[in-house]
Amino acid sequence: MMDAFEILGVGLLFVLLVLLWAVPIVAAWNHRHPHRGTILVLDLLLGWTVIGWAVLVAWAFAGVPRRLVVSCPVCRLPMQLERGAAAGRCRTCGTLVRGPISPSPGGPG
Ligand SMILES: [Zn+2]
Repeated sequence: MMDAFEILGVGLLFVLLVLLWAVPIVAAWNHRHPHRGTILVLDLLLGWTVIGWAVLVAWAFAGVPRRLVVSCPVCRLPMQLERGAAAGRCRTCGTLVRGPISPSPGGPG
């Protein structure tokens, strides 16, 4: 028979494990990870294995795209552009600013 302290301990351990298990999902969502949907599914399937969970934590934190800082051609203020994004909108004047590597017109996509 378990007493109240044992039940409390098991409950706390369970909550702690659930919080730890959700770390890759929360990290991927917080960083707007491009593969956050995949990380969610893989954590649901493999998060209970220690190795799978560790790989997902590393992926959730490492795979975050770094932002490029470019200057707006209209107002000359620096703005952040997500790497891989073709263009972003200036927060100050609303101009659509293209990244340094713009896709060639007529290309695939
Ligand atoms: Zn601007």
